[in-house]
Amino acid sequence: MMKLRVEITLFNCSRDGGAVRARARGRIAAALLGVLICACAPLPQYTALPAVQYPSANFNERRPSFVILHHTGNADATRALGTLTRASAEVSAHYLIERGGKLVYLVDELKRAWHAGPAYWGGELDMNSASIGIELDNDGAEPYADAQIETLLALLADLKERYRIAAANFIGHGDIAPGRKVDPGVNFPWKRLAERGFGLWCDPPYEAVPPGLDAGTLLGAFGYDISNNEAAISAFNRHFAGVESRRITEEGRSRLYCLVLRKRLGSGG
Ligand SMILES: [Zn+2]
Repeated sequence: MMKLRVEITLFNCSRDGGAVRARARGRIAAALLGVLICACAPLPQYTALPAVQYPSANFNERRPSFVILHHTGNADATRALGTLTRASAEVSAHYLIERGGKLVYLVDELKRAWHAGPAYWGGELDMNSASIGIELDNDGAEPYADAQIETLLALLADLKERYRIAAANFIGHGDIAPGRKVDPGVNFPWKRLAERGFGLWCDPPYEAVPPGLDAGTLLGAFGYDISNNEAAISAFNRHFAGVESRRITEEGRSRLYCLVLRKRLGSGG
């Protein structure tokens, strides 16, 4: 069988386009079946300032660094899909996962879906620009269906691998908008996700919290918006204790300190 050798050569761009083309001709003459890809196309120019182009070939696509999980709050997926696609609603997400496990793709992963609204996490305010948003077909009071969570776990694994998303950066809408949002709610199986490397988790025994580190300081260090301390505590309890409570227990504070350390160490998968 005849073997074809295909050579792909990437050239750095330069202002001297003529010199690049001359090198390309020489290369093609030397390798009859060579394929040349030249990264010298003009850049799309967004600024109105008179910038001179000097393109570099050293780049790749920007990538999302968070995954934000939501519940729709609706009784069925049809109603939620209506809202998520109706222009006047001005809300969307990249994906919706139905109760039965069906995965629905709504917005290009590389585009900015409108799912977070006013939000904050660890200094980041524009969470829509930084994240993939996933809606779960759930009314907020019911348990999450197993088939739905299985699909979610598969999607999270896919996203984590493709975008190299840190384990700590799989969080809920309630985490980034305390006092305003509660989804995906107290029924969401965060521990099960964390065991697969999506989100952080800590179980006892906990090490002692150093004196002087109060809950607000620790919540802020973990990422929460602490402008409303009670709202931040409620969001933490909902996610990490599965309860609705505006007060943090001693055990909760120890769990929180453990999570801050775990995040700092970058562990958790
Ligand atoms: Zn939400």
